[in-house]
Amino acid sequence: MLAVGEALQRILGTVRALGAERVFLLEALGRVNTEDITAGRTIPPRDNSAMDGYALRAEDTAGADRENPVVLEITEDVPAGKSPLYPVRRGQAARIMTGGIIPEGADAVLRVEDTESAENRVKIFVPVAKSQDVRFAGEDVRSGEIVITRGKAIGAPEIGMLAAIGCSMVSVHRRPSVAILATGNELAEIDEEPGPGMIVNSNSYALAAQVLECGARPIILGIARDNRSDLVEKFENAAGADMILSSGGVSVGDYDLVKDIMGELGKMDFWRVAMRPGRPLAFGMLQGKPIFGLPGNPVSSMISFEQFVRPALRKMMGHKELFRRSVKAELAAEIKKKEDLRYFYRARLRKEGDRVIAAVTGDQGSGILSSMVKADGLIILPESVSTFPAGTVVDVQVLREF
Ligand code: AMP
Ligand code: MG
Repeated sequence: MLAVGEALQRILGTVRALGAERVFLLEALGRVNTEDITAGRTIPPRDNSAMDGYALRAEDTAGADRENPVVLEITEDVPAGKSPLYPVRRGQAARIMTGGIIPEGADAVLRVEDTESAENRVKIFVPVAKSQDVRFAGEDVRSGEIVITRGKAIGAPEIGMLAAIGCSMVSVHRRPSVAILATGNELAEIDEEPGPGMIVNSNSYALAAQVLECGARPIILGIARDNRSDLVEKFENAAGADMILSSGGVSVGDYDLVKDIMGELGKMDFWRVAMRPGRPLAFGMLQGKPIFGLPGNPVSSMISFEQFVRPALRKMMGHKELFRRSVKAELAAEIKKKEDLRYFYRARLRKEGDRVIAAVTGDQGSGILSSMVKADGLIILPESVSTFPAGTVVDVQVLREF
């Protein structure tokens, strides 16, 4: 039986980042850029106005106030998107809109609120400093500058930047396709009325959702029954994907055939991890693809995904940060557990000033999905300790913001 850290190391040592593909920039959201992206243009392209007002020569406005305004001659209107026609000479100003190009000779902008105009003259009520309300060419981006480095995850700001520099296609790591197979004679399809002793295959959907949340592409392959021929056929089908997930059939029961089949069709790396829930995890390779035999119990399957599959998928997608954010929290109540296993407790988190309090969400049975629904995070209880009094500071993996 492997320790959690060791299992994770074996998995991350096996999976590799997938190759790149060029996609339309919106398709790149949440994915990792595979090359340095250089701006082919300067932003803003020209010196322009940050205000609606007047482009003028700062020195002309010296000493201006309400009683003794400086009066300037208006040369023209400069709306955004049009080039000015005339220079601004001493004693002159151009009426300018936000984004309008600063005419030659002008070196500042005065906002319209501090002026009054009539016909082709404008009264200036306050002095202006040189460069005031001028946005300079290249103050955001200079042509030739790297604006997004290789390995950066693309978020909304990066999409905006790519658009701004006119880059509509971007090279990112491929999204892994993930085949999802449920195993079990007792499983019914989601829209069937489960017969006696049958339960709905919920794992495939929870796993598909987790895969989607990672930014990968789930392929739900349905249910394999607990017999060799069905399992072999469905696993062989699954090997076309970049990763294979199965749930169930990895314990020690008579019908638990998944790890045998994994070993026959591919190569088993390890089985069983010193954790709860989620001990009977199997990991290996099938036709060059990582394959996870996840436990059948719904919470075990989800927590195993969190600990092992999510980091592996993130690595395949080229992410540098593979793990969830974790916070320090105080236990709301005592927890006792067995030694030698790492426990993951579902917890609701709440802030109290600077402190975070973690309260266990009820029954921690590995089939109790409702306590997963209530959880904001997973309390990580280390192997070596068995009693955690109320108030103990623990690490909590944050699953959703609280
Ligand atoms: P197993 O390890 O195959 O015996 O599965 C353990 C338990 O997990 C079973 O008794 C089922 O109650 C449950 N289980 C297995 N597969 C699924 C599934 N796809 N969806 C929901 N529950 C499942
Ligand atoms: Mg089973």
